[in-house]
Amino acid sequence: MALPPAVELRRRNRAALLEQLHRHGPQTRAALTEALELNRSTIGALATDLAESGHLQETTGQSTGSAGRPSTLVACVPQSITVAAVEIRADRLRFALVGLGGEVLERSETALEDGDDPVSAVAVITGGKAGDAVDAVAAMPGLVDEGTVAHSTELGWVDRDVAADLEAATGREWQVVDTATAAAVGEWSRGDAHEARKLLYLHGGRGLTAGLVIEGRSQRGGSIQLGHIVVEPGGRECACGLRGCLEAEMEAFVFAEDIENATLAAGMGDAAARDRLRRSGEDLGRALGAVVTATGPDEILFGGWLRELYLSTAAPVRSALAETTLPHLRSKLRLRTPVLGDEGALMGAAETGFAAVFDRMR
Ligand SMILES: [Zn+2]
Repeated sequence: MALPPAVELRRRNRAALLEQLHRHGPQTRAALTEALELNRSTIGALATDLAESGHLQETTGQSTGSAGRPSTLVACVPQSITVAAVEIRADRLRFALVGLGGEVLERSETALEDGDDPVSAVAVITGGKAGDAVDAVAAMPGLVDEGTVAHSTELGWVDRDVAADLEAATGREWQVVDTATAAAVGEWSRGDAHEARKLLYLHGGRGLTAGLVIEGRSQRGGSIQLGHIVVEPGGRECACGLRGCLEAEMEAFVFAEDIENATLAAGMGDAAARDRLRRSGEDLGRALGAVVTATGPDEILFGGWLRELYLSTAAPVRSALAETTLPHLRSKLRLRTPVLGDEGALMGAAETGFAAVFDRMR
């Protein structure tokens, strides 16, 4: 049954107010009035209501303005809504319990050995804390569709229903996103990429993946198999069964172990190392040409070890991209490296959870 319009409006305004404070931090009622384009009495009623439900608190902040009068700030109560976030890699598992407003309330990390199942390890590292969280999100490298990892070079999974396995291991529901998409959400919401309407994040691990988010939100179909775009037809055999895939041609697993030495050797004038990096940059640029043509992003971030590769091969990446995309697609395209680094995917997993929480409140 549909809610009466006034009740529905109030729900939407509550969600908007919480989301505003979650994303932008403590603010005065006057600032909230302006940001949400609501009148003062509406903001006042919502703030009182949300303080009573334990989501908000009003605190006296630093004095502002010429009068030097301390202003009253409206702030989130972090413990009132928590999201459990995990990031799975082949050799490592990280967990964070993130509170409303973005504060990390708990965090832990564990190494994974070959043969360990990361999904079972999630139950151990979250230690039951995920059960109390309002949402739970796991990020992992691969092609992810809904809760299933269709293919992951790094984890060696094909068509694994990870959401079901995580639920069986922990007794609660999980959202599953790929690492690149999670990192894109993280950079958009907690980094400095919020200007990008279509943000493409490239993640270099043992395989290569990409994630496209629109206005900071993950999209179904936004998880992209960057590593298995064929850049050399009939080329090197890839673990996926095709030939000439980007990650096979670049030998991504070698760079994943040792990009530092490769770039160092090239920097010191090693001609073979330089040549290899340049060719890898060109291959990456060509694969990106296909992705850019298909998706039309306005910003591309190079994450994981692709950050180092891009920093040393920006020119060949750009020239190969220029040869494979239409001018109007690249005229406003920004290419750069992410600011959150290794934290992006974990923070983005948490933000993916908060986005779902706010959606359900509306
Ligand atoms: Zn492949």
